[in-house]
Amino acid sequence: MTVQPREGLLNIRPYKPGAAEAPGVENPVKLSSNENALGCSEKASAAFQASADQLHIYPDGGATRLREAIAKAEGLEAERIVCGAGSDELLQLLGKAYLNPGDKVVQSQYGFLVYKLVAMQSLAELVVAPETGYRTDVDAIIEAAGDDAKIVFVANPNNPTGTYIPASEITRLRDALPDETLLVLDSAYAEFVEDPDYEAGIELARTRDNVVMTRTFSKIHGLAALRLGWAYGDPSIIDVLHRVRGPFNVNLPAIEAGIAAIEDADFVRRSIAHNTQWVDYLRQQIGGLGLEVTPSVCNFVLVHFPESGDKTAPNADAYLTSQGLIVRRLEPYGLPHALRITIGKEVENRRLVEALTAFMGQ
Ligand SMILES: *Cc1c(COP(=O)(O)O)cnc(C)c1O
Repeated sequence: MTVQPREGLLNIRPYKPGAAEAPGVENPVKLSSNENALGCSEKASAAFQASADQLHIYPDGGATRLREAIAKAEGLEAERIVCGAGSDELLQLLGKAYLNPGDKVVQSQYGFLVYKLVAMQSLAELVVAPETGYRTDVDAIIEAAGDDAKIVFVANPNNPTGTYIPASEITRLRDALPDETLLVLDSAYAEFVEDPDYEAGIELARTRDNVVMTRTFSKIHGLAALRLGWAYGDPSIIDVLHRVRGPFNVNLPAIEAGIAAIEDADFVRRSIAHNTQWVDYLRQQIGGLGLEVTPSVCNFVLVHFPESGDKTAPNADAYLTSQGLIVRRLEPYGLPHALRITIGKEVENRRLVEALTAFMGQ
């Protein structure tokens, strides 16, 4: 018998990222991974390039200057921030740090897939709280958590639904959970949300010692390739994450690009404006084809297709792929009749609508 990994690990189905190729089509448009339609800040890519002559140097393991730049841009305390190789790594580290085998982890029905991976890695028990109208249901989470959940993961807004719940609901959730339950607020899309009743969770993460907020440079800052994220919370939680992270978990080019990106408020503003404009366009145009589009505050839309007949989600996906438009299938999320479509550049969005119009008219 060959060497065996820890119990349960072979049950994990590795995370499958959004497709990146359309066989037979040159230069396809990738709308499958919620990347930034505008690319990234020119200042960030210049900082990345300028780091090319320092590749032999270990990065600052504490990412001090990056944490200070984040703190300044967001009005936070640098010592309450820890950086990671993507917020994915921080979610993994939270599992590594807080979960014992058999512990209960709670997530929402269509919650981000990484939470399940985190639970399985720690042999924790995942309990899924049903959603209502593709929206996080706080009462269902409270019920699922009971008096013994160790971690509750809430993506707000959530991927792949694109919906959010207001700050008052998040506070109500925190108040109803046991003090010993860690509430993880995954705010990967926070910057895109313009609704006044939304908050990323900074206030709760500042005032409660059992709330941690995770953020990413992959979406609004367009630095998905560099793998950069951060978490903000009580010093006791941040201290634990520093203990379990790799000594140099964030690389030097990522630190340099991240500092330039978070200081480039103009790029962030332009990204938000572009997104708001084209989310509305896609929702109207696709809705006009008779398809249901879940209202989204993120840089993607969730589009629902008929469950039978020839206008199904798999058929739409096949047609779009044949036209060089790559979108996200959602079978792994239990949404086999829906597709997730990332907001692209203007020409890409128009091409998408044209192709979907042709598909629906066939
Ligand atoms: C994209 C995304 C992340 C961020 O992933 P990174 O590892 O930072 O690239 C986290 N949570 C959700 C819900 C996401 O959609």
